[in-house]
Amino acid sequence: MITHQKTNLMELDRKAMEAFFQGIGSKAFHGRNVLKWIHKHGVTDFDTMTDLSKRLRSQLKEVAEIRVPEIILDQPARDGTHKWLLELECNNRVEAVYIPDGERSTLCVSTQIGCSLDCSFCSTAQQGFNRNLTVAEIIGQVWVAVRESDRPLTNVVLMGMGEPLANFDAVISAMRIMQDDLTYMLSKYRVTLSTSGIVPAIYRLRELSDVSLAVSLHAPNNTLRDQLVPINRKYPLEQLIPACREFIRGDRRRKITWEYVMLDGVNDSIQHARQLIRLLEGTPSKLNLIPFNPFPGTRYRRSPPERIEAFRQRLMKSGIISMTRKTRGDDIDAACGQLVGRVKDRSRRELRRVPVVSVTRGSA
Ligand code: SAH
Repeated sequence: MITHQKTNLMELDRKAMEAFFQGIGSKAFHGRNVLKWIHKHGVTDFDTMTDLSKRLRSQLKEVAEIRVPEIILDQPARDGTHKWLLELECNNRVEAVYIPDGERSTLCVSTQIGCSLDCSFCSTAQQGFNRNLTVAEIIGQVWVAVRESDRPLTNVVLMGMGEPLANFDAVISAMRIMQDDLTYMLSKYRVTLSTSGIVPAIYRLRELSDVSLAVSLHAPNNTLRDQLVPINRKYPLEQLIPACREFIRGDRRRKITWEYVMLDGVNDSIQHARQLIRLLEGTPSKLNLIPFNPFPGTRYRRSPPERIEAFRQRLMKSGIISMTRKTRGDDIDAACGQLVGRVKDRSRRELRRVPVVSVTRGSA
């Protein structure tokens, strides 16, 4: 028996939606209406889309569906952060974190199930890699957040599980949906993609998108960065820094946000701060210092607050805007680098440095 799979309309950005509607003999503008129904009004039932004819609605029911992720666990933290464990297809799970902060509310979105990049201080890395998320699964996190929270979503950061630039096409489409005026209307300053530094993909991103860029730097020289962020062996600093400069060239309002995890005795000395100042000279920059968030089995410790502050002051003195990121939601393991979900490792790494830790942590 031949079964025709229905198209999940959550997969489609504006262009793809218009093409889909034209492909079924309908009109592009109906596609735009449906995009609006789904994302602006949160409607997943075709019969509620009253500006479509009955005929079109019943045709849609035959060929299409609207599937959104399901929250299977909502963990609120004391500071108002929520960590949602979302159930995806094939029993995979992924975490999204919602962070209200004054006027702002930010959603931290995952782009892959697990991650293959193996940064030595990140707990997602310890889980291994399973697969890329689909467009529907990425934008589905935003869809869910908007429906769950009682205030508007102002910012999205692609800083959850996974390396966004390693899931390039799906991430581009999902970000287009986030920025569309028919949907969430997030401006280029309110969508931030964080990458460990896949240099060719940074150049490609510049061609296709205008979102803001954050880069996981974590070390001021190649020797140390090779250990902490192993992708540096392939794309060292002398390639990464020019790619980032190019990314913001021509827009005087833009800066690169550098993320720098503060690891006790590893990368947090004044000497490191000086090297960092030299490295970033001439690049419009903002520095985000992230106190290390520990997880079971890690060999690292968080730098003491005085050392983080001394580091920050040294950078500020040289004119680099530097902030220490507030650790949010750490009582529910929702802070940076603590997202775990439930990952079935499909990469064939023979020996992981640390045994796969508490894969059910988020789902207990
Ligand atoms: N893969 C992307 C997005 C990931 S996470 C990237 O590498 O940029 C968002 C940030 O949290 C990254 O800068 C990441 O390096 C950092 N991070 C990872 N583990 C951490 C930990 N245990 N404590 C603090 N920050 C961590």
